[in-house]
Amino acid sequence: MSKNVLILPGDGIGPEIVTQAQRVLELVNQQDSLGLEFSEAKVGGAAIDADGVPLPAATLEAAHAADAILLGAVGGPKWDTNPDFQIRPEKGLLGIRSNLGLFGNLRPAILYPQLAHASTLKPEVVSGLDILIVRELTGGIYFGQPRGVREKEGGIREGYNTYVYDENEIRRIGRVAFEAAMARDKRLCSVDKANVLEVTVLWREVMEELSKEYPEVELSHMYVDNAAMQLVRAPKQFDVMVTGNMFGDILSDAAAMLTGSIGMLPSASLDVNGKGMYEPCHGSAPDIAGQNLANPLATIISAAMMLRYSFGAGDTAARIEAAVSNVLDQNLRTGDIWSEGMQKVSCTEMGDAVMAAL
Ligand code: ATP
Ligand code: MG
Repeated sequence: MSKNVLILPGDGIGPEIVTQAQRVLELVNQQDSLGLEFSEAKVGGAAIDADGVPLPAATLEAAHAADAILLGAVGGPKWDTNPDFQIRPEKGLLGIRSNLGLFGNLRPAILYPQLAHASTLKPEVVSGLDILIVRELTGGIYFGQPRGVREKEGGIREGYNTYVYDENEIRRIGRVAFEAAMARDKRLCSVDKANVLEVTVLWREVMEELSKEYPEVELSHMYVDNAAMQLVRAPKQFDVMVTGNMFGDILSDAAAMLTGSIGMLPSASLDVNGKGMYEPCHGSAPDIAGQNLANPLATIISAAMMLRYSFGAGDTAARIEAAVSNVLDQNLRTGDIWSEGMQKVSCTEMGDAVMAAL
């Protein structure tokens, strides 16, 4: 099986953090004989500057051909004022997601014990926190038709969107979540609003049907309002959560903040075959770009996710995660996670430390 990794550095701190993650991948590739091969392409603002569009045909072609994609981040003030929304960096990212059918978004929220002080919650509430949120990414109310703003009788404007999922869309994201639960603590909480929204009554039914195929997984259901409350009240009750596009967008950002460190959180977006794009949860951080200040750990952990989910190299992934924990134990911190008494390091120094730990 070929293992072609496409690297998309993107904009802002993207090239800096991706460079460190690629070094790590190249090292473990050698150490564990993974057979990875690398290529690189432009996306986002970098592509606009070079080719006039955020997702050049050559990049999309390379994305289709690759077995997995590692992305830095896209966007920045330089392109934010472009009046043509089709020529915005973010369109490059959305274009890849939709063209490749990357419907399954995995966002772990893990609290590193070394960074517990940065959480918004009390240490005893978050210590040991390790949640995986599985969010549907290419359907639901963000894509449903019809949508728009129209004028009704009396010249009153009304905005409307359509929240729609068919059972196949629900089943395929459900399967991703059940599979993930099987590899973890075997507890899955499906989040919906089945007391109000018919689409999520169907969601709940399909999750129940699926659970017959996964008898070892304990399935529960929660309304989204309660889930939001429980996430900030007692987050450790959750193992894997699965939900639709909009609820997942909101809950995963809330869960991320529980860990207190945006520079530490990875994500994966998978298609039906497990091919995926992996990227840090944070953006291109234009305020610190080009200064060697960015935290590369979220991207390095995203690379570990790639090995686990796209290449079945869970042991190597665990080694990378242990190396990250090791550098935190050495009290090395980039600015975003720095606190009194810790040693402040640059982006490249953090990469060096992870390499050394490996
Ligand atoms: P986007 O819309 O792409 O999500 P954003 O403007 O919402 O971007 P970020 O680009 O994630 O947000 O930046 C938010 C803040 O977090 C900035 O101050 C940025 O410097 C900081 N930040 C984000 N990622 C990192 C990182 N890897 N290392 C250090 N600081 C970071
Ligand atoms: Mg943002």
